[in-house]
Amino acid sequence: MTQPAPSPTAADAQRAFDSREIDAKQGAFAIRGPLLWCEGRPTGGQGLDDPQSGLRQEDDGLLIIDGGQVVEAGPAAALLARCPALPVADWRGHLLLPGFVDTHVHAPQQDVIASFGAELLDWLNRYTFPAEARFADPAHSAAAMGRFTDALLAAGTTTALCFATVHDHAARHLLEAGAARGLQLIGGAVWMDQHCPPALVVPPVQSAAETEALIADWHGRGRAQVALTPRFVPSCTPEALRLAGALAARYPTLPIQSHVAENRAEVAWVAALFPEARSYLEVYDRFGLLRERSVYAHCIHLDAEDRALLAARGASAAFCPSSNLFLGSGLFDLQATLAAGAKVGLGSDVGGGTSFSALRTLGDAYKVLALQGQPLHPALALYLATLGGAEALGLERTGSFRPGDAADVVALRLDRGPVLARRAALRAAPLDRLFALMTLGDEQQVAGVYTQGQLRHRDDR
Ligand SMILES: [Zn+2]
Repeated sequence: MTQPAPSPTAADAQRAFDSREIDAKQGAFAIRGPLLWCEGRPTGGQGLDDPQSGLRQEDDGLLIIDGGQVVEAGPAAALLARCPALPVADWRGHLLLPGFVDTHVHAPQQDVIASFGAELLDWLNRYTFPAEARFADPAHSAAAMGRFTDALLAAGTTTALCFATVHDHAARHLLEAGAARGLQLIGGAVWMDQHCPPALVVPPVQSAAETEALIADWHGRGRAQVALTPRFVPSCTPEALRLAGALAARYPTLPIQSHVAENRAEVAWVAALFPEARSYLEVYDRFGLLRERSVYAHCIHLDAEDRALLAARGASAAFCPSSNLFLGSGLFDLQATLAAGAKVGLGSDVGGGTSFSALRTLGDAYKVLALQGQPLHPALALYLATLGGAEALGLERTGSFRPGDAADVVALRLDRGPVLARRAALRAAPLDRLFALMTLGDEQQVAGVYTQGQLRHRDDR
């Protein structure tokens, strides 16, 4: 398998920052505006003014970019004095964040978003499986993957871990569409060989062969990576789980994505399918599917032993609050999961989730956590939607503005709609404005999106 091209270390990037060279260099430029980013998981007091370790902010900041990577982020006045000839894209009046990282989303489910009246298992049968079966038509698949990746980009999401469908061509369309838009997509075809319509059953030997061919063709090609994608335990026979585990063992750094403990009926079903297992999560562990770079969506109905297992294996949870509210699944316990030492990222889980927007998703996260007495500080919210997501996916140069990071940037506007405009005008501190955006905003606030230093989306309405 092709390994992703090594990126320069932070030290290399620091050494490369000679202001005269940057001034003279073709293609180097800077983005100016209020900057907010994380360099670690923020910890600190609950107040917005309390110091937060790991959080960086510049009210009038400059982000210097060269060769698609961040060279340096800091105060505009000081950096411009050092590099007076540097071309500057002026985003003052906006809020500039690292591009969002979506750790759990279903590429074929845009057409089932906002479908009425079902919990998880009924939802799959009534809406999801029929929609995914339509991807047997390659023309439908190619067009839908184009719409899906357009929607990611328009929401300011520059990195995503995505389910395709069971169809090999759909996984290829997904990765092609992501590459064409400069996105960092990780995805794979879904493994499913039982408890679904016959048209969606794929024998596990075929899934294994197709996933291996996809790895050979796409893993490490540009920004794309392939993820091993068993849908969830009930969709996979023990033979499918065994073959998935064998593939995981052959590719020890390959990302893995699945679902766990989303809904109580699902948990009971898994207990009936594997009566000897201690828990739902433990089934994945038996088959070697719980490890670094494995991302499990939901993780709601877990106990302390499960959370300890998740952390011990280096696996990650994808927190999908809008989906969990919409499907009535339950409340994710962020505090307990982080305290156990597990990694956590934010997931839109479209189409069970109701928005591609990380801002809307964070607004729902705040409410899910408020119900548990865990008000989500905007610094931690930013981490979940950017660097925390990147860490959950095992991506080293993503989700922040450290030297050498991919220059993925989202510029958010604060003047769309009178309510947000008034709220943003009242309090101008970047962190306070971020909280206003995650409470009141959505993709309508995305004014510009850069991937690897290229402006890929602009909305001047
Ligand atoms: Zn999902």
